Amino acid sequence: MSAMIIDGKSRAAALDAKVAEVVAGLKSAHGLTPGLAVVLVGDDPASDIYVTNKVKRTEAAGMRSIEHRLPAETGEADLIALVESLNADPEVDGILVQMPLPKHIDSDRVVMTIDPAKDVDGLHPMNAGLLVLGQPALVACTPQGCVDLAKQARDGDLSGLDAVVIGRSILVGKPVSLLLQNANATVTMAHSRTRNLPEICRRADILVAAIGRPHYVKGDWVKPGATVIDVGINRIPAPERGEGKTRIVGDVDTEAAKAVAGAITPVPGGVGPMTIGFLLVNTVVAACRRRGIPEPKIA
Ligand code: NAP
Repeated sequence: MSAMIIDGKSRAAALDAKVAEVVAGLKSAHGLTPGLAVVLVGDDPASDIYVTNKVKRTEAAGMRSIEHRLPAETGEADLIALVESLNADPEVDGILVQMPLPKHIDSDRVVMTIDPAKDVDGLHPMNAGLLVLGQPALVACTPQGCVDLAKQARDGDLSGLDAVVIGRSILVGKPVSLLLQNANATVTMAHSRTRNLPEICRRADILVAAIGRPHYVKGDWVKPGATVIDVGINRIPAPERGEGKTRIVGDVDTEAAKAVAGAITPVPGGVGPMTIGFLLVNTVVAACRRRGIPEPKIA
């Protein structure tokens, strides 16, 4: 039996379409067009592609996109001053500062400066803390994408399932674990010091890999019928495509896992496209909350 492929691209397209519908409704009912400000410091090519995609999808959903592209040598104080001006701008509902920032800038200090009500990346300690309390406000986008795709594969219900999350980063592993707990799964968090990782993984009805190591999770670590969410984005050499060429693979040995799992996300085309989808959702949520408009149900 081969696992069902969880198509993140089409789920993200459906989310974008729903966001566009909600935005059109907000415009006609409240005269509101949510605005998302994206700040990019430097010229990292991968970050440049992410920001370009974010801007495109924000505009395609009918929202306003405000772009700030700053030179790599921008000082921390100047970046913080820009974030403060975006905090104060009533036309801006969401603020995203593209990570990673150049090494001379303390990213924690920048994130702390973002108004929590506009923190559409969900990284501010206030939003992270609310998630821990089980009162999520603005939740990090990739983790929301992971849990949404797991629910797609499980008819929307994760209650009582055993979940194992490999990785405990602030960006992915920790919030995914908390969201799964909030969805009533029984969650084990694994990391680089975990003993007997293959054995622990074999207990998982939902297995989330957020490690950053190509094909690390083997097919025989997967419980038959499990839902596998592969968050990893790893670039590996692909000589079959020509000299010096590379390709992107996940943290899971997808081909081997497919033979055992019930459902699995591909890389690329799984979790990746969901991140911007939930960025748009968060921007709409932030815009409504800031104005006391009842929050639309999008995902
Ligand atoms: P990270 O901050 O480097 O965290 C990696 C986690 O994996 C750490 O908790 C680490 O454990 C754990 N780990 C490392 N080696 C391990 C091992 N051998 N066995 C078990 N656990 C191990 O990375 P991240 O930001 O969470 O990202 C993880 C992956 O997701 C990366 O490939 C990244 O590119 C990808 N990603 C994708 C998206 C998307 O949109 N699809 C978004 C964000 C990230 P310790 O805590 O013990 O060190």
